[in-house]
Order: sequence, then structure tokens, then C-alpha cells
Amino acid sequence: MVCSVRFSWVVCCAALVLVAHAVVAADKPSADAPYLVGRGSADITGPLVGMRMLGYVRPDQIDEGLHLRQFARTFIVADRAGQRRLAIVTTDLQSVTHSLYLSVLDAVRAKLGDAYGLDNTVIAATHTHAVPAGYWHYGADTSLGSPFYQEHFDALVRGIADSIVAAHQDLRPGHIYVAEGEVEGGGFQRSRDAYMQNPESERQSYAKDVDDQMTLLSFTVDGRPVGLLNWHAVHPTSMNFYNKLISSDNKGYAAYAVEKKHNPNHDAPSNGDQHKPERFVAAFAQANCGDVTPNSKLQGEGPGKDDADSTRIIGGRMAQAAERLLTAADEEISGPIDYRQAYVDFGHLTVGDDFTHAGDQSTSPAAYGYSFAAGSTEDGGGQPIFREGMTKQEPFIDILAKASLPLPTASPEMRRGHLPKPILLALGATTPPSFPEVLPVGVARIGQLAIVTGPAEFTTMSGRRFRQAVKQALPGVKYVVVAGYANDYAGYVATQEEYQIQHYEGAATLYGPWTQAAYQQEFSRLAGDLAAGRKSETHDAPPDVRGMVRPTPLETPYDRVPPAAKFGDAVGELEAVYKAGDTVKAEFFTGNPLNGYKPERQYARIERQDGDQWRIVAEDGDWEVRCRWYQPTGEKKPAAPVAKADGKKRAAINLPVTPSTKPYTADDHRLAAHVLTILWEVPSDAAPGKYRVTHTGAFKAEADGQVHEFAAQSRTFDVD
Ligand SMILES: [Zn+2]
Repeated sequence: MVCSVRFSWVVCCAALVLVAHAVVAADKPSADAPYLVGRGSADITGPLVGMRMLGYVRPDQIDEGLHLRQFARTFIVADRAGQRRLAIVTTDLQSVTHSLYLSVLDAVRAKLGDAYGLDNTVIAATHTHAVPAGYWHYGADTSLGSPFYQEHFDALVRGIADSIVAAHQDLRPGHIYVAEGEVEGGGFQRSRDAYMQNPESERQSYAKDVDDQMTLLSFTVDGRPVGLLNWHAVHPTSMNFYNKLISSDNKGYAAYAVEKKHNPNHDAPSNGDQHKPERFVAAFAQANCGDVTPNSKLQGEGPGKDDADSTRIIGGRMAQAAERLLTAADEEISGPIDYRQAYVDFGHLTVGDDFTHAGDQSTSPAAYGYSFAAGSTEDGGGQPIFREGMTKQEPFIDILAKASLPLPTASPEMRRGHLPKPILLALGATTPPSFPEVLPVGVARIGQLAIVTGPAEFTTMSGRRFRQAVKQALPGVKYVVVAGYANDYAGYVATQEEYQIQHYEGAATLYGPWTQAAYQQEFSRLAGDLAAGRKSETHDAPPDVRGMVRPTPLETPYDRVPPAAKFGDAVGELEAVYKAGDTVKAEFFTGNPLNGYKPERQYARIERQDGDQWRIVAEDGDWEVRCRWYQPTGEKKPAAPVAKADGKKRAAINLPVTPSTKPYTADDHRLAAHVLTILWEVPSDAAPGKYRVTHTGAFKAEADGQVHEFAAQSRTFDVD
């Protein structure tokens, strides 16, 4: 994921370009703008406690709270007549399922008619691993999956659709500029042995073993930048699998940092501010990051002192690169908008000699190999008895696999089709398949930029081959981005050469050794159709699995605090004075945040006294603020009086506290109280003065079963 720039004279040119751009952009009136552009975003933060997290496939990673919020960010580009339009949505999700994609299209259609459909809407995930599962239909209630929560799924649909509708309503004449440049230290090759299997001549035509370039679009209206969208390849796995707080990880941090900088006078997004049209939107989309880790030490850590610090550093590098490219972008995008998306049956596809260089070959029904269970060693590893590079079938492992997920045994033909991968989970051996096989693939074009969309984790070399193929097939296209994790999710795609040694990525390449060649064949076909202006052939739509899974209710029957307490009561004491670098910790009795769940609900505000007003200086979702819910356990101790902010004496309950680490089950959250811990790291630029922590919460009453909202304040404290 790299494009290296030749220096020397280019450097001095860059300076000229910066000056030139300021003039170019400011001078371009929107009246003669080639496109209509629109931006929108919406909060899609998932349920905050008791949910299995998605990405590391660890049953013990159950969420407990919030660090960075999840958003859907949409950019729409249309021609001036509004006839051809393309919507590109970037979501802070681990993956976008095709069910989710279809439901979002349904929700948008209900509001906007047929303007956005299968062929002109791209909904992609950043692939953060620090967010809740519970919205997948495939695999629900299996050892690999999570229960399916309809409320979570519906909230995602609503939020993503809202962001598209907001972008549509924001459409105005505007210009788009493009720039490409390096993100230094923005990603590291995590599967080098596999990468080295690619032909030497091919490797030598690239300076690095990852693509470290960022391709950035700058959107301007009336000469003013209103948003940016970029693609860059790095796994959002800075947060490791010990993390229990929702986080949009390094890509989310980058978006957060850039938006914060460009929206200095705006309220926080959870106050509905993301719908204000003047708000600058920054989307950091994913590219071919299949084998690219942010963990510089290649062992699930680095470059920071802990995972949150690494998130900030890697995200900060992307944010910096984006700011640099935003200023440098001076090449205007111009030309037609066009797109093709088709369904392809990757379980049974003939791949021609042009793409295999080994005669006609075939893909195979979906299957994970042994080394899938090993995880990527460089990103923290997986199950202990597995390791990367396993190529021999072992009866003992087959028995274990059957016990964890009862799937039929693969036929001899299917086994042969996946060699040298030993099949761990024969997902495609069932009827219908237990994993998607008919997948959406697409190629879109805006002027000299082509966007290749696919539902997978493409490795570095896979992505390079796609970019070359599409560039060849589409004359006039200068930039090609590979947008992975788009419109569905279907594992990894390693090249046929990488596949041979069955590292994690090869073992998770679901349709056999010719999977990458198959994608390349299909991308080339769609690009050729675009160039020729012909329709593209498509397979029948995949089975619609919505409504085929029994949902688990998200809410609990009611919330209850200990007898002497009420919702909002403070638990524990604060210091009287804090200074920069200290962590303020305020705790409150509260409800389970699954009750009355809505993504944009706000829980925490840090406020500073300003005359007779309290001004918000930070809130949940800000980098310095963390919220964690836990259930106190053990015996109640006698209450000790604690001074409250209102000056009245009230009983506080001091309970010995043990954070709950048990997975959520139907019963164990029901009766105990919840305590919310709000942590605020006092930033170095905090103004001295009087502060307080406000918790805005909700609980479900035992008496009426209704959700009631409340606000509570900590006692005040000073920041020196
Ligand atoms: Zn991944």
C-alpha cells in the first residue's frame, strides 16, 4: 500500500503547488463546478456492555464501555444534472454484511426513491476490531459468532441511511481535487514470508513490501474545503484483544482528530452536530490492508507504550498525511461518473488462463484452513494449538473443529480444490452455504479516479495486481484505489503464490488458491464494460438471510440500585484539586446502557464553570474521556455520608468493586446495579478553574418497565 515519490526537484515543486492550489481553489466559483458534492455523517456507536466484540474472534472479549464513538461518513458525487451519482460510505465497523447493505438501501429508498441502489452505493467498513458484534446473520449463535440483536442491526441501518440522506440533502456544486502521498510509518508487512512467495520481478517493481500511499480527495464548495475522503491500507488493530472499550481505532482517531481541527467552534457530534451541513467531514477509508499491521513490533504491539497510545500515534500519522495532502491537492478531478457492480459466485467460478497463467482453473466452495485459527501472530495471535503455515490435515484437529462448529466434512473434490490448505471449517459444504459465496464486486469511476470495491481483506500484492489490471482496462484513469471491506464480508484474499505457504491470510482466503485471480478476472471484466459503455452481466442475487435468524432482545427487564441509593448517586470520592496529566475519576450508580440504547446517547460531560454557566470542555467520545460500566459485587458495607454537589448530605454506597468480566448471558445482568466510571485525563491545555463531571444516563424502572433519563453531577473540583 505504497507509492513512493521521487524527491529532488519534486520537493521544490511541492512548494509551488501549495501556493498555486490556494489560488486555484479560491478562484474556482462553484457556478462552473463540474460536480455536485455532498457530505453527511451519523453516529452508529454500538451497544456498550455485554456484547461480544468482533474481529479477534475471542469469546472473552466482551465490551464494557466507550472510548471513541463509531460513525458512518458519506460522500456523494453527482454530475451537474444529478443523473449519475455515486455514494461512498465509510463506517467505523469491523465489517459490513450484505444484509446490512441491503437494509440500508431499503431505508434510503424509502426516503429518496431510486436514487441510490446496488450499483452506485459503496458501504465499506474501516475494519476496526474494537467494536461490538451482534449484527451478523451468518454465524449467529455459533462459537464463531454472537447472538443477533435486531436493535443493534436496526440502529446501524438507521445511522448509515441517515448519513446518506444527509449527504444527499447537502449536494451542492463543488470541485474535487486529488493528491497521493506517503503515510510514513503508517503500516508494516505482517506476513513477510508469504509476501516473499510473490515473483521476485514483481516485488522488485515496488519500493516497499506494503502500500504506504494515501490517495486523498479534497472536496471544495465556493473555494472552501468542506471535507476529505482518503484510502490507505492499515489494519485498525492498534487496540488489542484485551481491550473492552468501543473504539474506532487508528482510522477513527485520524477522522476524529481531523474533524476536531476543522470544526473548532462546533458542539460535540452526540449533540446532533454531525447533521449540521457546515461541518467538515473527514473519512479515512480502508484499502488493501490484508497483510498490513499497525503494530510496529510485529507482536501485537507498538509503536506506543500501550494499545491506546499506539492508536493515537498511528492515527496521528494518517491525520498528518491527510492534512498535508489536503493542502497539496491541486489536480482537479474531471470527467464522467460511472459504475458497475455485479454478483459473482465465488464458490464455483471458472478462472481463465489470462488470470491464472496455468490454464482454466476453478474456485471452490468456502472453507477456512487450519491456520485461520492461529490468527495473525504479528497482530496478537489466536488459538494456542494452531500456528501459521499449517499445510497437513490432522484427524485430531478435525475432531476438535467438528465439536466447535458442526459442519459436514468436505468432499474429496472440495479438499483438492483448496490444496495445500487443510480445511478446518467447510462452510461451503452445507446447502445453502454457511457463509456468503455469491459476492458483490464493483468498479466505479469519477473522472481520472477508479474505485475498485470488494467484500474482502486484500493483501498488498493482490491490491497491486487489481490496480494494474483496472488501469489497463480503463483508458483515461490515472488513479485506482482498492476499497476493501465493501458491501459484504468474505474473508481474505492472498495471491496464489502467498496462498501456498498458508499463513493466516492464505488460510482465511475462502475460495481456494485461485481466489485472487478470480477477483482480478471480475474486476477486469467490469472495468472493460465501463470502458465500452456496456451493461455488466451478473449472477442471481445471493440468498436474503434477513429474518432467518431469531433475534436476542437487547434490553434487560429492569435496572435496580441498592436500597439506600438512587440512580445518579455518586460512588466514591473525587480529589479537591487536579493538574494536567492527572486522571479524574467520577463514578455514579446508573442503568445498564442496553436499556434505552440509541447510538447517539450521551453519557458523560466534563464541564468548567464560566461565570454562572457551565461550559462543556469534553464529553464521551473525546480522546481524553473513557466510560466503563461495571457491576459491583459482594457485601454492602455501611453507608458513609458523602457531600454532593448540591451541598445536601446523602447516603453513598461503598461496595467492594470487581469489574465484571463474564460474558453476557440472558440472566446475569438483570438484578445487580451498574456503576459507570467516567475517567478524564486532564489535558495539558486545560484552563485553570472549577470543574465538574456530569453523567447523563437512563435506567429502566422496575415499576413501569419504562426507560427514564436523568442527569447527575459530581462534586466540583479545581484544575490548577
Ligand atoms: Zn482483518
